Amino acid sequence: MPLPAGFVERVRHELGQAEGRALCEALDAVPPVSVRLHPAKSDERMLGRLGAAGRVPWSEQGWYLEARPQFTLDAAFHAGAYYVQEAASQAVGRLLGGAQTRGARILDLCAAPGGKTTLYASLAGPEGLVVANEIDRRRAQVLADNVRKWGTGNVAVTTCEPRALGDFEAWFDVVAVDAPCSGEGMFRKDQAARGEWSEGIVRLCAARQDAILTEAWRALRPGGTLLYSTCTFNRDEDEGALERLLERIGDEAAEAPVEAPDPAWGIVEGCVGPFRTWRFYPHRTVGEGFFAAVARKSFDAGGRSRTPRARRQVIAPADRAATAELSRWVAEPEQMRFGAAGDTLYGWYAAQAEAVRTLADTLPVIYSGVALGQFFKGRLKPDAALAFFTGLNRGAVPSAELDDQTALRYLRGQPVGPEPLAEGINLMCASGLALGFAKRIGRRVNNLYPDSLRIRMK
Ligand code: SAM
Repeated sequence: MPLPAGFVERVRHELGQAEGRALCEALDAVPPVSVRLHPAKSDERMLGRLGAAGRVPWSEQGWYLEARPQFTLDAAFHAGAYYVQEAASQAVGRLLGGAQTRGARILDLCAAPGGKTTLYASLAGPEGLVVANEIDRRRAQVLADNVRKWGTGNVAVTTCEPRALGDFEAWFDVVAVDAPCSGEGMFRKDQAARGEWSEGIVRLCAARQDAILTEAWRALRPGGTLLYSTCTFNRDEDEGALERLLERIGDEAAEAPVEAPDPAWGIVEGCVGPFRTWRFYPHRTVGEGFFAAVARKSFDAGGRSRTPRARRQVIAPADRAATAELSRWVAEPEQMRFGAAGDTLYGWYAAQAEAVRTLADTLPVIYSGVALGQFFKGRLKPDAALAFFTGLNRGAVPSAELDDQTALRYLRGQPVGPEPLAEGINLMCASGLALGFAKRIGRRVNNLYPDSLRIRMK
């Protein structure tokens, strides 16, 4: 499908004939493939396995690949050892470089499928909390699955309108808005985006972005950092959205410390008032089209932190016997708090357990911390999320190392032979990476890999 005529005309007018043409040609070229490695699950061996071709220069864990592997058939992908993430969008980590992200409470307001959420989760660490919100319930489930696989145990997934999170006034240290947009930057990777584009969509997206940014600003504490991004090129949705926000909030915004990018990377820097802006054009940088901007809420902005009144009590604390059994399964039980939501047991890092409770009592939280499993006769039947969890106690149950073919059978939910397994519950691993659990009873093996995560590809 050709690029929309209105788009071509506009970029040639805005960028000039030569540069506009270069951009349009780049949008018809083959897109690069890139991943971001999980810092706690991947090492250099992963680079050889994936066929890494070089670093994404603005990203700590980002790598370009020589070719696109069949990720679905790679056990390491299912273990959450890396996330397949477009290179330019990985720059959000660098733009937040000057903010205190370790231990921070970060709101990712438009989060599915979770590329940036998993990046923020790695930045926040066990003392921090990422609240990953997605308005679309179906997409929120995909987000929750990706959060489970990433396994940092410091994310709460909500599915609500931005306004419900705006009601957590001045509660977040960082708010990230990766806004729904007209997707011009995706014209290369996603041909359907070309067909969906129109001038009307641009206007509709701009109005929606204004509404989302208003809520984001409410949720941000004085001194906190706002990160705004889109994957589109037009001013209305990028600089324009920031100009309109500044009109609404007056002098409440201030500059955030941002390290200048290396000129060799080809990023186009700019500013809108106190916002520092980075533009990624595919004819200048190796990645898709992307726009990102960062500023702080001034310390003088005022406004006390407020949360909505609790409507119910969703989480019941675990009793002593349950805590003793659950403690066996995690490497640092003293750092964690345990509780139940319905019949599922969860663990949360102590530093943010109270914050998660506050959220769960007010909002639809569909996943948080780490799902540990369910109790049967006082013993835990572990959830797959516990296998993915970076804080799992590897000594809790025996590990069964699977060859590549057996790992794929396991991930498809097919029967696997009893041979590498010990009697009882086993952690199923491939190249040392945890994939899930299975239970051996004599010669029989119960594959406990969840239905929702199974490989369906032939
Ligand atoms: N941050 C995600 C990532 O890195 O994987 C990508 C987010 S995508 C660009 C924008 C998301 O905003 C979509 O998942 C979409 O469902 C959601 N969205 C759509 N309308 C929205 C609205 N009115 N308010 C908030 N989010 C909305």
